[in-house]
Parts: sequence; structure tokens; C-alpha cells
Amino acid sequence: MYDAIVIGGGPAGLQAALTLGRMHRSVLLLDSGDYRNGTVAHAHNLLTNDGVAPADLRSRARTELAKYPTVRLRDAAVDSVTPSGEGFTVTLTGGPEAHAARIIFATGMRDELPPIPGLAAEWGRRVAQCPFCHGHEFAGETVAVAIAGEHAQMIRLMLDPMVAEVVPLDPADLAAVDSEPDGLVLRMRDGSTRAVAGMFIGATPSQRAPFAERLGCRTLPSGGIEIDDIGRTSVPGVYAAGDMAHLATAAGPMVSLAAAIAAGQLAAVAVVRDQIASRMAPAGHAV
Ligand SMILES: Cc1cc2nc3c(=O)[nH]c(=O)nc-3n(C[C@H](O)[C@H](O)[C@H](O)COP(=O)(O)OP(=O)(O)OC[C@H]3O[C@@H](n4cnc5c(N)ncnc54)[C@H](O)[C@@H]3O)c2cc1C
Repeated sequence: MYDAIVIGGGPAGLQAALTLGRMHRSVLLLDSGDYRNGTVAHAHNLLTNDGVAPADLRSRARTELAKYPTVRLRDAAVDSVTPSGEGFTVTLTGGPEAHAARIIFATGMRDELPPIPGLAAEWGRRVAQCPFCHGHEFAGETVAVAIAGEHAQMIRLMLDPMVAEVVPLDPADLAAVDSEPDGLVLRMRDGSTRAVAGMFIGATPSQRAPFAERLGCRTLPSGGIEIDDIGRTSVPGVYAAGDMAHLATAAGPMVSLAAAIAAGQLAAVAVVRDQIASRMAPAGHAV
């Protein structure tokens, strides 16, 4: 029986495992290899790691975790998580089970892109959704903002002191995206084309894994799992971190590597705190 099983090997889960390992808690980290930024070549806005390849970041984190003897990492997909006895049983694809007193979910979100040919190949490269992550790289160039509604104005205003020109587009008018060595050619439904350095477009996020919801963890209107200020969900013994979870007072998660890392650390601290609280003698009792 592990002290905790961490499900998810992105920044949130890796940091949670590191914090638990440093506290000599037995922890199993399970990772199916499905990362939200799986197509990203260079991630930005992370102190000391600006421009890092996310795969390198994960690989270095795994090397660091290997120094902690109470941490076990397994590349495996989880099929189910069910309450059992004093904790939880986690079933992996293919049948094996693992047991833990507590679970940290760090299973992330998946993004559904508009079905526009050529878009997916550029996602996280020349096509992005967040100017904090991928805006500066287009400084002085022309970018398209293919986002409908109020959000489009916000993205345009974020970009306009940064880029030479913002081309507003209705995503419904976009027929295909061609990758060129120095940018994108946008093919419109009316037959016209437009060359740009990059494009911002919206994607529809949803939970990558159903387990937290199945266990009865409260879900917020954003689709995120509700957590308190240190990562506890509404179900005792179940914690969540990273893009999949946020406080009820926030409109949504802060989608970034730094925020996911911070949330993973908090959830691990919450595990340790709750573990200790359960072992402390009630006030007035000798220990
Ligand atoms: C295109 C794009 C570009 C981005 N660029 C930046 C950037 O430049 N800078 C920045 O700060 N942020 C960036 N982000 C945001 C950043 O990538 C996310 O905020 C961050 O990756 C969230 O980390 P996470 O640990 O919550 O989830 P993820 O990194 O998505 O990890 C989820 C983990 O859960 C695992 N998992 C899911 N289901 C199962 C299962 N059934 N069994 C086992 N494991 C499972 C997955 O395998 C994975 O290991 C970008 C996001 C996108 C989409």
C-alpha cells in the first residue's frame, strides 16, 4: 500500500511525486504518455527554462525523481480508480492493481481543435492559443487571430503591442492551413490565401481522464475539478493538481507549466499535512 498514487506524469504530477519523495513518502507515479503539450517543441515563460522542450523537462524531472528511493514511476495507463478499505485501488491497463491511502490526480486536459486540415500539425508550434506562451516569438511579424466572439478581442489586444499586424479571421471561414518553412499559408473558403507567421485559435478543452468525476469529486462549470487552496477535492483522500482542477472562485485553471508545478507541490503538501493530522493525538491526550 503506497502513501499516495499520483496519476499523471506532466509537470503537476512530476512535481507532486518530487515533493512526496523528498518527504520519504512511498509514491507510485503512473503516466500514460498523453501530455497536453505533446506537440510543443519549445515551451516558454518558465523561469530558468524559457524555450525548453517539454519532453526534455519531463525527462530531467524523471532523472531527479530517480534519486528518491520511495518514488516509483511506471509508464502505464490507468483504467479505474475505486475506493477500497482505507484507501483506493488503481487498476492499470492489462490488469495489475496498485493500492494507496491517497490519490493525486494530475491527469490534465485534452484539447479538441476545429477540424481544419493542417491545423493539428502546427498546434503548439506556429498555431497556439496563449500569447503568454507563444506571443513573443511572433514579435514584429503578422499573425492571424482566428477566434470568434469576445475572447478574440482580448487576444488581439494582448498581441497588438507585440506583433506588426493582427489579422482577425472567423474560424468558420478557414478551409486549410499549409505549413511553409517561414510561416503559414491560410487557405480561406472563398479561395483567397493569406501568408502569416503564426495563428491563434481556440480549442475546446475537456478532462483527459474520467476518474475524479467517477469518484464523485465536485466539478465546476468550467469542466475543472473543484479543489481547495491546497489541492483537496470534495472527496476525502483525493487531491487534484494542474490544468484539470481549480478553485471555485476562479473562472478556470491558470493553464501554464509554472502553475501546474505549483499546484502539484501544493497537492503533495496537502497529502503530507492530512497524513500527519490523522496521526496526531487529539488535544489533551498524551502521546
Ligand atoms: C499548444 C500548447 C502550448 C503550450 N505552451 C505552453 C508554454 O509555452 N508555457 C507554459 O507555461 N504552458 C504552456 N502550455 C500549457 C501547459 O502545457 C499545461 O498547463 C501543462 O502541461 C499542464 O500540466 P499537467 O501536469 O496539468 O497536465 P499534462 O502535462 O497534460 O499531463 C497529464 C498527465 O496525465 C497523464 N494521464 C492522463 N490520463 C491518464 C491515465 N488514464 N493513466 C495514466 N496517466 C494518465 C498523461 O499521460 C500525462 O502524463 C501549453 C499548452 C498547449 C496546449
